[in-house]
Amino acid sequence: MSEKKSGNSMVRSYQNCNHAFYSNSTQENLKFFKFAEDPEMCKRSLYACGRKDLSFKKSTSALYNTHRLCSKHFKVEMFVNPDVMDSLLTLAVPESYQKNIITQVYMFLSNEYRYFPIRYEINLCKAFEVNYAGMRNGLKCGNFAGCPLQTGKIYHVCNWMPDENKLPPAIPTGKYKIRMTLMYELEEAGIIDCYADIVNSMYIFKK
Ligand SMILES: [Zn+2]
Repeated sequence: MSEKKSGNSMVRSYQNCNHAFYSNSTQENLKFFKFAEDPEMCKRSLYACGRKDLSFKKSTSALYNTHRLCSKHFKVEMFVNPDVMDSLLTLAVPESYQKNIITQVYMFLSNEYRYFPIRYEINLCKAFEVNYAGMRNGLKCGNFAGCPLQTGKIYHVCNWMPDENKLPPAIPTGKYKIRMTLMYELEEAGIIDCYADIVNSMYIFKK
């Protein structure tokens, strides 16, 4: 097995990625990188790739020796040589996976949409993984194929319908607005407003 020393990391033909949401990386031409030997850098990488849990379970040296991240999780500018991408900069960290969707429901009452006590915050990639509200239906039409998202690429989905079996039960009859705010780090990256009527619910909202 060939090994090549490069910055703080090594490239090897391991086929196992320890990122929280993309563990089966056997396809494509991926390269695998060690976690940093420096405890602080190692911790930053773990948090960014959704594996905070490993920082409690494993020592930095154990992670360095046995755990890997694949090249998918690093932006081009994190590589010493962006054209071949086989060597990471000493301070390289994977792209943060914190792309969150905040879903807030409003109910139409007295001529306006008012806060309704349903709110979810979920990671976009995780939402696809667990098929939150039937999100995987969005893979059937359009060019979105799941995570990771690529910077600068325009995604479109079409004919998406939530899966009613995955929506919360016991919503009273009425008109609703469902606002999904897409967050990138702490920035609002976009807003999707959906409107829905709940008809014939066994629950009626009483003012
Ligand atoms: Zn990976």
